[in-house]
Amino acid sequence: MKYQAPRGTYDILPEDIRKWHYIEDIIRRLTTLYNYSEVRTPIFEQLDLFQRSVGEDTDIVEKEMYTFKDKKGRDLALRPEGTASIARMVAERNLQSSTREPLRIWYEGQMFRYSRPQKGRYRQFYQFGVECIGSPKPIIDAEIIAIGWQILQEAKVPDVSLEINSVGCPECRDKYNILLKEFLYKDKDKYCTDCQRRMEQNPLRIFDCKNKTCQHLIEKAPRMLDNLCEECAQHFEEVKNSLEMMKVPFIVNPEIVRGLDYYTKTAFEYKINYLGAQDALGGGGRYDGLIGYLGGRQTPAVGLSMGLERIILSLEKSGFSFSEEDNLEVLIIPIGINPIQASIEMMQKLHEAGISAIVADEGSSVGSNLKYCDKNNVSFAILIGDNELKSGLYVVKNIKKKSQSEVKKEEVIDFIKTHEVVVK
Ligand code: AMP
Repeated sequence: MKYQAPRGTYDILPEDIRKWHYIEDIIRRLTTLYNYSEVRTPIFEQLDLFQRSVGEDTDIVEKEMYTFKDKKGRDLALRPEGTASIARMVAERNLQSSTREPLRIWYEGQMFRYSRPQKGRYRQFYQFGVECIGSPKPIIDAEIIAIGWQILQEAKVPDVSLEINSVGCPECRDKYNILLKEFLYKDKDKYCTDCQRRMEQNPLRIFDCKNKTCQHLIEKAPRMLDNLCEECAQHFEEVKNSLEMMKVPFIVNPEIVRGLDYYTKTAFEYKINYLGAQDALGGGGRYDGLIGYLGGRQTPAVGLSMGLERIILSLEKSGFSFSEEDNLEVLIIPIGINPIQASIEMMQKLHEAGISAIVADEGSSVGSNLKYCDKNNVSFAILIGDNELKSGLYVVKNIKKKSQSEVKKEEVIDFIKTHEVVVK
């Protein structure tokens, strides 16, 4: 029986990992520049955490979660996204109580959603997220938005557009929901069954519906953006001003929503238009109510999350050439059994000097090993046979220059270093 990776999952092979390292290096570098620290949270959490924080009436919670019971009968779920765990961590450990500066953190890891797999949509995928916890200030919303924007720019993802909106606060949203419901109920029966249900519980979510009829019907609905209270309107103005100061270009799109009570004010998305239906690279927003809602102290927060697969897909689509991973520098070729110990010692010395090296299989021919070096861009081969053991002079071949030297075994490292090997 031959096994296959479960549907919607995939292996990242050695020839592909450089694409991941490429984008991960940029994420790590930029978040460090902005003084964000990495955190790692569990891959599974209590089911209830996601039900409450992502929201009962979302597709994620209704249809897409991998849930299971552990041996003691506890209800758990594989994480479908990262913010719930971050908010849980902050509430549980009371992380925001002692520092004056907001808590700046980021994460990366696998997320799990049981949705229909297609290009850019998987059942296990990677997201990274950047979260700033403890400040209500609009400039922090802009900081988060700018970090995501800069990561995409540095990664050279082409033609990204940034769309922003405000979803108000519970106060202005309650008033707005009355207006929106009035509008929706006029054509209630024409909406899909999911939206008919959302109409009652969370009408703002209807803007997220992918059904064409619903999308058409809602085009003329009143917009949250036109119904913000004074404070929320002011906040939105300041976010826009800060983005302008940071030279981050944006479009205001009143249809971007995060329709749960604890999402407040700013909402945003990074979009591209060349990956078919999967046009969102990521997004985020302010969630001033969430940490308090999960039992922590009321703590304002704002964050973003982005999918790594879609970033990589958009780079591939644009013909971007990812740099090669570093190559093996030295292949040590023992000729016969006797030089094996000396070969291993040579390898260990090279490693101590930060030079990548392996010992070739003792049974393989010198010719085939040299061919391997040629094919795999290995810089040097060191040949050690009985004669070399006796004389203490090793044969060092510079593969690219096609030259060969006899070098005292104690001087091999210096020889290799001075002949342009990259020391890691
Ligand atoms: P969301 O948490 O749904 O706002 O998703 C944020 C980002 O994560 C999306 O814009 C995608 O880049 C990525 N993403 C979400 N779901 C998937 C999935 N099933 N497969 C691959 N990437 C995903």
